[in-house]
Amino acid sequence: MSRQGLVTHTQTQIRTDSFSSSYTLTGRELGRGKFAVVRNCVEVATGQEFAAKFLRKRRKGEDCRAEIINEIAALEVAARCPHVAALHEVYETPNEMVLVLECAAGGEIFQQCVAEQDEGFTEQDVVRLVQQILTGVSHLHRHNLVHLDLKPQNILLTSSCPLGDIRIIDFGLSRRMDAAHEMREILGTPEYVAPEVLNYEPISTATDMWSVGVLTYMMLTGESPFLGDTKQETFLNISQGHVPFSPEAFAGISPQAIDFIQGLLRKDPRERTTAEQCLKHPWLPPGPPAEPVGQTESTDEAEQAKEMVLVASYTVCCPC
Ligand code: ADP
Ligand code: MG
Repeated sequence: MSRQGLVTHTQTQIRTDSFSSSYTLTGRELGRGKFAVVRNCVEVATGQEFAAKFLRKRRKGEDCRAEIINEIAALEVAARCPHVAALHEVYETPNEMVLVLECAAGGEIFQQCVAEQDEGFTEQDVVRLVQQILTGVSHLHRHNLVHLDLKPQNILLTSSCPLGDIRIIDFGLSRRMDAAHEMREILGTPEYVAPEVLNYEPISTATDMWSVGVLTYMMLTGESPFLGDTKQETFLNISQGHVPFSPEAFAGISPQAIDFIQGLLRKDPRERTTAEQCLKHPWLPPGPPAEPVGQTESTDEAEQAKEMVLVASYTVCCPC
């Protein structure tokens, strides 16, 4: 993976004392990715619940501590952003780093995206949740941070029933945008990556906005707009720039919702709506998103749709 745009300094004190003397693991696994497992735990001193993300420092024989430091630094920047799971503490052992995060007990929005229609989101739910996602993403972008892995598995809920609030997680691929450098990489998960990522064209905040378009599409229809039978077919669907708005999938969905998605799933990143512009779109109510206080309830975390992070990446430095 390219190290372009990685942040190398963190403010969080990295603890080297024992994680298990301050936290008790409850035995509940919240989820896992390629190099991480996330477990529910309770802080002994306060009784407060957290999500502990255990990250291996060596991956495929390579030292990846720098990537983890970047993830921590991104979470520090994001600490000022609404709707991002807060970082509480960090521990380090010879082989692992442990990120102690706010626990989003409602699980991944992926569950509702793939649920039967009567258990899935209503358009009214989607309006509220997308507004929260955009509020978080617009703050990240204002801090020159791009997430680059916005997908239904990385967008969590504080509670599932009643439907709580959004918490954006997983800053493992995030990058600081730097005006002096152009960043081009192949990373992310095929289904959700923007055409410029596939075409080795520069990455920008607009790259995240494509993913917001895919997310909104999936939350409304339960279907993944570009998913093909093979990875190649998925790539082809994305690069052809054709967005399928079938009448069946969009039955009962408002024309404003379709217009909102169309503004995001534009092949040319310069033509895509920004997070700020999206927040002013007529599909969303004006003003800050409503914040109902959800009652905490956990859901089963199915191990679906594993990340297919592409490894090939390169970066081009602009000579200016
Ligand atoms: P990876 O970088 O390996 O993808 P993630 O940070 O996405 O790891 O975590 C993997 C999964 O663990 C998530 O998709 C989610 O289901 C669960 N998870 C991660 N962080 C939290 C959290 N703060 N609260 C609850 N569940 C979480
Ligand atoms: Mg993830």
